[in-house]
Amino acid sequence: MVTTATGGAEQTLPSRTPGPPVQTLAAREVFTALDASARGLTSADAAARRARFGPNELPPARRRSLWRELAGQFTDLFAVVLLIASAITFLAYGLQEPREVGTLQLAVAIAGVVVLNAGIGFAQEYSAERTAESLQAMVPHTCRVLRDGERQELPARDLSPGDVIVLEAGDAVPADCRLVEAHEVSVNNAALTGESDAVARTADPVPAGPVLEARNCLFMGTDVVAGSAKAVVFATGAATEFGGIFRLASSATRQKTPLQLQVASMARRVAGAALAIGAALFAVRLPAGQPFVETFVFSLGVMVALVPEGLPATLSVSLAIGVRRMARRHALVKQLLAVEALGSTTVVCTDKTGTLTQAEMTVVQAWAGGVRHPVSGVGYAPEGEVADPPLVRDLLRASALCSNARLLPPSADAGTSAPAEFRGWRVLGDTTEGALLVAAAKAGLDRAVEEAAAPRVAEYPFDSVRKLMSTVHGDAGRGYRTYVKGAPQELLARCTTIDWGGERRPLNEGLRAAVIAANDELASQGLRVLAAAWRPVSGPRPAQEEAESELTLLGLVGMLDPPRPEVSDAVAACRRAGIRIVMVTGDHPLTAEAVARRVGIVTGPAPTVVTGDRLDALDDDALDRLLAVPGELLMCRVSPEHKMRVVSAFQRRGEVVAVTGDGANDAPALKHADIGVAMGASGTDVAREAAVMVLLDDSFASIAAAVRLGRSVYQNIRKFLIYLFSHNIAELVPILAATFAGFPLVPISAVQILAIDLGSDVLPALALGAEPPESDVMDRPPRSRRERLFSTAVMGRILFLGGIQALGVTAVFFWHIHASGVPYSDFTKHDLVYREAITMVQAGIVVSQFFNALAVRTDRQSVFRVGLLSNPWLLAAGGFGIALMAAISYLPPLQSLFNTAPLAASDWAVLAAFGALLLVAEEARKWWLRRPRATRPKGEAR
Ligand code: ATP
Repeated sequence: MVTTATGGAEQTLPSRTPGPPVQTLAAREVFTALDASARGLTSADAAARRARFGPNELPPARRRSLWRELAGQFTDLFAVVLLIASAITFLAYGLQEPREVGTLQLAVAIAGVVVLNAGIGFAQEYSAERTAESLQAMVPHTCRVLRDGERQELPARDLSPGDVIVLEAGDAVPADCRLVEAHEVSVNNAALTGESDAVARTADPVPAGPVLEARNCLFMGTDVVAGSAKAVVFATGAATEFGGIFRLASSATRQKTPLQLQVASMARRVAGAALAIGAALFAVRLPAGQPFVETFVFSLGVMVALVPEGLPATLSVSLAIGVRRMARRHALVKQLLAVEALGSTTVVCTDKTGTLTQAEMTVVQAWAGGVRHPVSGVGYAPEGEVADPPLVRDLLRASALCSNARLLPPSADAGTSAPAEFRGWRVLGDTTEGALLVAAAKAGLDRAVEEAAAPRVAEYPFDSVRKLMSTVHGDAGRGYRTYVKGAPQELLARCTTIDWGGERRPLNEGLRAAVIAANDELASQGLRVLAAAWRPVSGPRPAQEEAESELTLLGLVGMLDPPRPEVSDAVAACRRAGIRIVMVTGDHPLTAEAVARRVGIVTGPAPTVVTGDRLDALDDDALDRLLAVPGELLMCRVSPEHKMRVVSAFQRRGEVVAVTGDGANDAPALKHADIGVAMGASGTDVAREAAVMVLLDDSFASIAAAVRLGRSVYQNIRKFLIYLFSHNIAELVPILAATFAGFPLVPISAVQILAIDLGSDVLPALALGAEPPESDVMDRPPRSRRERLFSTAVMGRILFLGGIQALGVTAVFFWHIHASGVPYSDFTKHDLVYREAITMVQAGIVVSQFFNALAVRTDRQSVFRVGLLSNPWLLAAGGFGIALMAAISYLPPLQSLFNTAPLAASDWAVLAAFGALLLVAEEARKWWLRRPRATRPKGEAR
């Protein structure tokens, strides 16, 4: 048995010998101690251990208990105000002489509103949490493991103690493990220690002490930020250090987005206004000789009725619908914030490989000794030919030996039932390196044989700042050989000689120019170009500096990476939508431009091309001036640090920036941007963690789709806000009119208003929140970030629609009252005429809201162009509202509850005609806006 942790959780492991803490052992002793092998576990052993230790998962996050969650719903401001109002009304009922059943109804109704609202809020939060969890689960968390001597990619949950895992920069460490091989490894332990500086790690033994401080151990929840390594797992799941200190859910705060805050503040202001109106009504009616308690109860009722209770819940539902729709389009939003930011995106800085292209690399050209050698075949199947293989073998051997990728034959992982992408040859690891292995195989090289002849002893991993990778190999007793591959420009700077037809020549200016010309020619065809070089070293094992200097250039390879077919349309859509697309790539300018032309990012004759070197030479002012020039812009040969700088510069100009990234060092730019977009399929765990949106398919088209949906979410929110606030006016105006006209009773009671707000209006508002995007949503410029949700245009529309509704219902009420010929002062609550009149007012609002819902569906377009029937949910929701109203009018129990009376068919006809009038008036307004005139006032809603 071996002790694996001296400080945190302890775990017992299968072991032949009891032994000291794992960090004190030499690398080879670690295998014995953990009953493991350098070839990894066998499948059978792995299965047995999995059964014994369980899956490598943390116990589900401790949620707030359902009760506390529910109780929390009653503590928000609205709920408290309403509960107080309800208590006062109950009290008033107790004090009333004689007691009015209406007062009791109101008290119960207000309490009912609170309960209902709490229920909706609770259900909403619960389902949002569930959605977030299930969406997170869609991002696969895999790791590379040695099993049966083979490197495999497995779900991290399948790991058991004793597994040998392979880690690279950008990987999240999937379990607690002891390093047995480490090349320049550093990790970020922030999740465990809170310290965000990267710390170096080694495979050498260290003295006993707290395991967390052991420099040869890596822990679950931390990230590898540089280097590559092999490690043996010693603790999984809850037994890990991370599992030991796992205190989640309680600390996770749910952030509100600016939009939610704007709506909440508007709701508060309206509630304040409602309070003031209630108080004013009380002040006006009391001196007019109304009984005190009744007047008080009435004013309270009006106040409660005007409070937009259901608004925050409707808003959350609509955002959640947006999130779900985006997930269906392969864009996983981790924070609601992104949904609204997406709608106002003005600049997208995008990677090239994998996002605009398919990341399906195929070497199509090799260049060595001044001669081009075409390579045939497509994809990762090693089937095809290289012209004159002997002349490019050294080049391809170096490329293959200096690679970490593996080719997986079709049969190795999948049967015929497997998904299509698993049926062909696949690459495990970097696709660029995979393509090199394929090309080497086509030239007749077997990597296993080559590696046996020159075993790798060290590696200096690729990073996108150096744009190089090198490996050091034993040279059959003659010392060492180093192989280096990378971006031609970088490599050329480290070469002193060149292999020219089997002969080593000094790399003079002429030959250098020949290499650059060959590189440019390949790049201008849109090919990704890599150079490879080598050097023999006779002395001791060379360090990185020596390994990567005085090299002999072997040649160049050019690989094709076809554009994704769906990207051109998405690029065109973004252009129409006024979004600037800037390609930010580590690749050569000519490669970048060729690809940019193919997908439509560049269409003009001379795009502005800025290289990393030029960026370094520019100060911030100069960079700002450069970005201020509109036009096509390509950033090439840049590193992730440059990306960060470009993002900040765009933000200084007030742009809303979305940026894509996949590598560990893209994390700062992803965090800093308004919308950090990580690659779900090919990106690193670190990038996914830093981003607010993850693309499941890596495609640029998914960003465009998410922008479109983000814009439509915002539009929909505006739609239901107009819908909900306009009818508040229709509820208030008749009450004010009756008060000032000296009518002793109310034209609509508080319970009736509550029936509208919480009955007939809720579903249409939700259906508006779920409207499909309008067809021209991507034909408009991005929304200004400074635009308020309640802009002048929106307020104007609320007043316009609400005004028409108010005019209609007020007219209907007084017309009905006057037609009876009874003087105002003779009316009592129980008169049939009065009951019919208030039923007409309620039904008038419900019917006009049906038409209002149709009217607000479009801002400028005619709703008839969108199709009256194109949102069946909305029609059904509106129909439900009218049916509810009919029930309130005709069913005796509801009649006595609401003090309503049955309406005649002619009454409904009048109301419908008046609703249709509202639609016509709104169509006329839209037509007015659409007029092709230059005289349209500024600031109108689009
Ligand atoms: P893109 O925008 O195309 O995704 P990138 O910004 O990811 O590009 P990098 O992956 O940083 O670009 O690559 C920059 C250059 O480094 C490439 O043009 C290539 O020449 C070289 N390169 C890429 N991958 C490797 C690798 N595995 N080993 C060595 N050199 C590489």
